[in-house]
Amino acid sequence: MNQFSDLSLSAVLKRNLAAHGFEKPTPVQTAAIPPALDRRDVVATSQTGSGKTLAFVLPMLSQLLEPPVAEGVQAVILTPTRELAIQIHEVFVKLAAGTPIRAAVVVGGLNENSQLLNIRRGAQVLIATPGRLNDFLGRRLVKLNKVHLLVLDEADRMLDMGFLPTITRIIEATPAARQTLFFSATIEKSVAHLIGQHLREPVRVAIGSAEKPAADVDLHVYEVEKTRKHELLRALLHREAGSFLVFARTKHGADRLAKRLALEGVKAAAIHGDRTQNQRNRALRGFQEGSYRVLVATDVAARGIHVDDIAHVVNFDLPQAPEDFIHRVGRTGRAGRRGVASTFATREEQGEVRRIERALTLTLARQTSPEAAPGVVLLPVAAKAHRPAPKPFGAKRSFAPKGRRFAARWA
Ligand code: AMP
Repeated sequence: MNQFSDLSLSAVLKRNLAAHGFEKPTPVQTAAIPPALDRRDVVATSQTGSGKTLAFVLPMLSQLLEPPVAEGVQAVILTPTRELAIQIHEVFVKLAAGTPIRAAVVVGGLNENSQLLNIRRGAQVLIATPGRLNDFLGRRLVKLNKVHLLVLDEADRMLDMGFLPTITRIIEATPAARQTLFFSATIEKSVAHLIGQHLREPVRVAIGSAEKPAADVDLHVYEVEKTRKHELLRALLHREAGSFLVFARTKHGADRLAKRLALEGVKAAAIHGDRTQNQRNRALRGFQEGSYRVLVATDVAARGIHVDDIAHVVNFDLPQAPEDFIHRVGRTGRAGRRGVASTFATREEQGEVRRIERALTLTLARQTSPEAAPGVVLLPVAAKAHRPAPKPFGAKRSFAPKGRRFAARWA
């Protein structure tokens, strides 16, 4: 299919797609939607930002609209975080407009009564995080015995978060004859095992390499002393336009960084697991709407951030694992736009940078320091052997070659 209009979808779905500017399917949509519409099981590995949400929401709605429209929970989408659930719901609402299909968001950290009310009022779809749905199941507040479509979104991440027993319990509460759509950035052993146990002859969809960030993201690395990372971030904020998503390793570090930026007059907020859902929603909304230019996040909190025009991702602290690098970097360069992802690493961390490069078979472009912000003295960073011997960012020399940027090289 070249256009959504090539699919045999109901008029209301075609209208809703067009109303939101969805004309041409992305590669994962082209590959996954037709077998999903044929009620086949699908396993899709695709890059973040590839349009996977629509790849499962669209076939789901198409099936639920086929007469007779049944009662009770017919479909479940399991996703690792509240933020992801809320953003899937946003896509769902856009595409379900004008149909009788309703979804209930079932996630921890929010009042359960309104979630239960939505289920009792007849939501046919649950968009859930495993913990809260399992809790409802255990308390017999929800039944999944009529579910004929189950979506596992970011399955690898759910397993990383220790949800395997919970997910298994939920899967087993649904009829064995259901259809399962399975999305995962990587298919490691534990993920493959889950697929083997619960899917039936799935159609495999692999778009590009799930282990590489989108090609339209420039990947930069700066060697920088730990005590000067903040200064470097300020300089990048001064040089580059647009919004910045900055990753910190710890909740405390995220808070500290956001506070310091705010004190310096940069509109910044932090998002992490210790913040209440309302605080997270406020920060995320402020970032989406542009009232915050910088959002500082930890890895888990950032899973749900789907803001399309993040110009710059900064790994203020190195990610713990190569997959986290992919997930972080996948927040920029979305929906066909270009993005920049800058990684800050101390000299001692260069080995770690090379480990990430090897694991993902890519090369981060070694960068010199950007133009200094007024009042900030910036110094050059170490570069690769083929460049004139530079000094690490923080050494006693001050120059900043103008406009020197290098595109990432793919190995
Ligand atoms: P996702 O990977 O589902 O988070 O989607 C990434 C972004 O791509 C979202 O903001 C979508 O709105 C956008 N998107 C998804 N499918 C399409 C499409 N077919 N055409 C244009 N944009 C799309």
